[in-house]
Amino acid sequence: MKKSPIQPALDNASWLGSNLPIRFFGDPVLRTVCKPVTNKEIKNGSAKKWIDELTDFLKKYRTKTGAGRGLAANQIGISKRMILLWQSDGPSIYINPTVVRSTGEGVYPESCISSAALFIGEVKRPWAITVEYMTLDGEKKTLKADPIHTRLLLHELDHLDGIVCADRYTPGTIRMTTGDADEILKPELVRIK
Ligand SMILES: [Zn+2]
Repeated sequence: MKKSPIQPALDNASWLGSNLPIRFFGDPVLRTVCKPVTNKEIKNGSAKKWIDELTDFLKKYRTKTGAGRGLAANQIGISKRMILLWQSDGPSIYINPTVVRSTGEGVYPESCISSAALFIGEVKRPWAITVEYMTLDGEKKTLKADPIHTRLLLHELDHLDGIVCADRYTPGTIRMTTGDADEILKPELVRIK
């Protein structure tokens, strides 16, 4: 029988469904507005434990699929305002992130581990943002994010507010993925404003 062009994507989804603590679209935790991490949770090590769980999961996912640049805590069932991003320079953690400034607008195709990365579609978002967040040491930081970093952060910030990228897909742009990591990692980010 001829192999389907989306077979690698289906294989990844099947592995994800049977091996890891990921929550999929439709799970109520993905519709819950996550609660801020408290200073007490930073001091008593709870925040560190949650970040370790996020890191552990994303590491496995990246090894399996070659993709996976971001994860919000509620995607593995932890309803707390924490984001893990993983770009070429390694993992970075954002606790209680808030957008303090945004400019312009861009279009970029997005996928999500919580849809088993089976679908991809175009989403319009601000072009660049500045965020304030906390580190695991409780230190307050401000980051002026470049456009790709902005996209990753805003996708995950949406998760923390109970919103998924499928809610924002431009109608007519949604399609199935093939399971090739480049399809997720390499699309062009287009500025429209
Ligand atoms: Zn997502």
